[in-house]
Amino acid sequence: MTDATKTLCPYCGVGCGLEVLPPARRGRPVQRDSQGFPLWQTRGDRNHPSSKGQVCVKGATVGEALNKDRLKHPMLRSSLEQPFQQVSWDEALTVLTDKIQTVRQQLGPEALCMYGSGQFQTEDYYIAQKLMKGCLGSNNFDANSRLCMASAVAGYLQSFGSDGPPCCYADLELTDCAFIIGSNTAECHPIVFNRLRKHHKKNRQVKLVVVDPRRTETAKDADLHLAIKPGSDITLLNGMAHLLLRWCKLDALFIEECTHGFTDYAAVVEQYPPEKVAQACGITVPELETATRYWAEAERVLSLWSMGLNQSAEGTAKVRTLINLHLMTGQVGKPGAGPFSLTGQPNAMGGREAGGLAHLLPGYRSVANPEHRQVLEQAWQLPAGSIAAAPGLDTWEMVRALERNQVGLLWVAATNPAVSLPDLERAQAALRRSPFTVYQDAYYPTETAAYAHLLLPAAQWGEKTGVMTNSERVVTLCPAFCPPAAEARPDWEIFAEVGRRLGFTEQFAFQSAAEVFTEFVQLTRGRVCDMTGLSHECLAPGPKQWPYPADDPSQAMDKRLYTDLRFPTPDGRARFASFHSRGLAEPPSPEFPFVLTTGRLYGHWHTQTRTGRIEKTRTMYAEPLLEMNPRDAQELRLQSGQWVEVRSRRGQVRVKLRVTQTIRRGTVFLPMHWGVLWATAAECNALTHPEVCPVSLEPELKACAVHITPVSDT
Ligand code: SF4
Repeated sequence: MTDATKTLCPYCGVGCGLEVLPPARRGRPVQRDSQGFPLWQTRGDRNHPSSKGQVCVKGATVGEALNKDRLKHPMLRSSLEQPFQQVSWDEALTVLTDKIQTVRQQLGPEALCMYGSGQFQTEDYYIAQKLMKGCLGSNNFDANSRLCMASAVAGYLQSFGSDGPPCCYADLELTDCAFIIGSNTAECHPIVFNRLRKHHKKNRQVKLVVVDPRRTETAKDADLHLAIKPGSDITLLNGMAHLLLRWCKLDALFIEECTHGFTDYAAVVEQYPPEKVAQACGITVPELETATRYWAEAERVLSLWSMGLNQSAEGTAKVRTLINLHLMTGQVGKPGAGPFSLTGQPNAMGGREAGGLAHLLPGYRSVANPEHRQVLEQAWQLPAGSIAAAPGLDTWEMVRALERNQVGLLWVAATNPAVSLPDLERAQAALRRSPFTVYQDAYYPTETAAYAHLLLPAAQWGEKTGVMTNSERVVTLCPAFCPPAAEARPDWEIFAEVGRRLGFTEQFAFQSAAEVFTEFVQLTRGRVCDMTGLSHECLAPGPKQWPYPADDPSQAMDKRLYTDLRFPTPDGRARFASFHSRGLAEPPSPEFPFVLTTGRLYGHWHTQTRTGRIEKTRTMYAEPLLEMNPRDAQELRLQSGQWVEVRSRRGQVRVKLRVTQTIRRGTVFLPMHWGVLWATAAECNALTHPEVCPVSLEPELKACAVHITPVSDT
């Protein structure tokens, strides 16, 4: 008998199961945090299939952030120069709906923008799509997933015919070769890495290859670390394909029966002899050969990637080039094998299912597809033509639309773009131009709140019920275990009430999140992400993995996609695609000689909205440090602890230096977690540029060119 609530960790896409214990437990005094707030303690849920009781420091401490610095009431002000005044929900929503109607009438629906988040539960995402894309006729809903997983979505879609990671975490313990590229899994997805590390340590024949310009905590465990030059991923992968071809290590039958486009691809990779590739990537030929040999000799190869491939101006090409290796060796659709993207956020996957990007509709549908629009319009009881045919504004295009005064109302929810957008000074200037910004969040202050006219208090994890899907397609019900802070309300309820006030009473007549989810899953029928068999009730005893169709329970038993080696393309075959790398969008130059790469630290999450308020995680990393190779530091006469100014073509930051052997020469690293709330003049994205992948529209947050000089003080 326990009084714990089973739920999901609200941080990363690993999606670890948690048990939450109330502050007052039988016979014990009320537990309190360092500020005297009642403390909800967390521990790993041993029965959760994804994490089996394990949690990292973030999951173990998340309860401490439930009460601190909460936005408790709606707040309004007439201009950014004025202080906020507390208002009632009725007044706040009257102002908001009046603004929406005025903007729609005067500027058209395309002047309405919403920017959401992978922190949403699926119900929040779904209702936001119904409101924006269906009822209001604006496809301008994008989410911070655009900065995170958009390239993986596009890569899967183009190579396999549908989004959806084909693998599952059990594959971590079944693989013979794990090939990690562009992911510091040990720090950013710690429990996934724990599972892999254990398997690797226990089985000496299992190989671990890590491709990263930094010798990260992940790379330290590798049998082979390829410290390639930033941006040379495609060249490396083409070079490996070249060797596989030369060594005849192909799965000819798989290529013949299950794929399309191999001949053209083979002609391209012929142009990547080892010497040329090794030189371009900054590695040796034996290193390239060893990596390829590990892949070729393994019965089951699992590749894992994250932001290092996705956050690139050629992100989709990188993802597809990696998938090519799986296709040419038949390493997909079987246990222990396949390309596996690790999602950044706890419910970025649910966002994809619910259509939470500007070009998507619920159920892995596309706004550009007339049949898909018709399905949604009928389901939502809206007139034909309600959903616009063109994709809406993606994240960076919203910034550009603000610059052109084409946005009448910007609604930001559960994310902190005033820290996380690239080319930050420009992005912040654009936010200042917004005639009316609604900011809906659980915390106050945040950096983005400074750009808002209306603040709406959102209930957060633990205060609302909904579902989240993790990287391996496991859907977990996250029940409310405590009341919302003061007047805070679940995001989906806020969206639904706005919809009702705008006259869409039938469309938003939901009494509970369970009803919202039930409506949503009906829209997945027959799609790759079919979860028609799921409901809050069915998820209450424990998580389930999709596909979970109501009428074909056998599919629910299959933990992997494409095990029948048929893909959801018109001819059932996966697609090869060949690319030559264009290199970095902003390569180093005499004026800006270093490549800055950006990333995350083990104990922090995004812009610290939560982890900055937890003593343990905050004090693990007192400040951001710029990592530099000792030989570079020697040339510049710099040493650890010294203050430096890092300058790019767009801005500058001042940080302390950390001289370390773990980074290759010519490259420096800065974590992305600090905004002005936590450290002045240390915003990593003041340096980054907004060049995007032309397919996924994901910005190249991972690399830009910088100049470094010593400064005497802060
Ligand atoms: Fe939470 Fe991710 Fe840590 Fe698991 S690995 S406890 S999901 S932050």
